[in-house]
Amino acid sequence: MRARIYRSEQSTNLKWESTQERDIDVLTAMGISDTYGVMEQLGGLLLSVKGANKSRGTHYFPGHERYKADLKDAIRLLVRIANRHRAMPKLRMRQWQPLAGMAIAEWLNDSCAVCNGAAQVKNEAGTVIIECQACNGSGKHRFTDEDRARVMGERMDKPLSILHGLIGIAERLKVQAVGRLLERW
Ligand SMILES: [Zn+2]
Repeated sequence: MRARIYRSEQSTNLKWESTQERDIDVLTAMGISDTYGVMEQLGGLLLSVKGANKSRGTHYFPGHERYKADLKDAIRLLVRIANRHRAMPKLRMRQWQPLAGMAIAEWLNDSCAVCNGAAQVKNEAGTVIIECQACNGSGKHRFTDEDRARVMGERMDKPLSILHGLIGIAERLKVQAVGRLLERW
């Protein structure tokens, strides 16, 4: 029994270590491998903010002072990291904040509005579960270029996709760090 537990813990660790290595490789390729700690910090802020949107707590919720401060910090950290990203297109100073804010807002509202992220809906009779057509069964809301252009006034696909990549890594690093912490208990 003990051996089995040990093995399963070990395999989880190995899984973590291999994704972590991949993430470090990606950060190295971006020229920002030294931002690992900041990325993890960003991930922590993002997960707090997302949690507040989902759980509707009374002490920490969207609009709360601490929530607003965390969101502002998250935007600041994301700008700081993305600014040094090798492939990031040159942006004007005033574009950074709204663009990072938009990437985070998209990540916060990433559920399909039709199925609410479930990827499935009932048919009209309410009897058969079918794949949601609005999101092609992904459960994710896809922001169109028009959505984005309306906010930014111009096409920002490339910088936004880089920002989304960074957000994804930051989130994963934080989840892994929390997972390792729990495993030690
Ligand atoms: Zn859907």
